[in-house]
Amino acid sequence: MPDAKATILHCMDFRLEKAIDTFIDDNGYAGSADIISLAGAAKTLANPADKAELATVLREINLSEKLHHVHDCILINHTDCGAYGGRKAFASGEAEYAAHARDLQKAQDILNHTYPKLNVRKILAKIDDQKHVTFVEVE
Ligand SMILES: [Zn+2]
Repeated sequence: MPDAKATILHCMDFRLEKAIDTFIDDNGYAGSADIISLAGAAKTLANPADKAELATVLREINLSEKLHHVHDCILINHTDCGAYGGRKAFASGEAEYAAHARDLQKAQDILNHTYPKLNVRKILAKIDDQKHVTFVEVE
């Protein structure tokens, strides 16, 4: 099996599609990324709906790591995500950011524990009212 550079776990939301293509190009992952598209992205690891959801995302990441020897795993959550109840589920933009940052961190911790060599990046895609997408690295 050929090596890939990265596994990218992002939400399946259609508003992200073009922006994620650009993100992949801009980060040098074009043609070398395994894409996992699941509603809620990091939520499937940090706060899964059920055991099957957790098993699904772990199986995909495991296969990417074992078969394609990826070095980077990019977790991309986004604002106004339906899996989180949308923007309206939060009292403020700061509260929404904090919820995503918390889940991204928990997902990173899970992956770091299972795959110590994997370089995990945490990204929040901010979608504004005009559906413009801006990617923010979450520390
Ligand atoms: Zn979403």
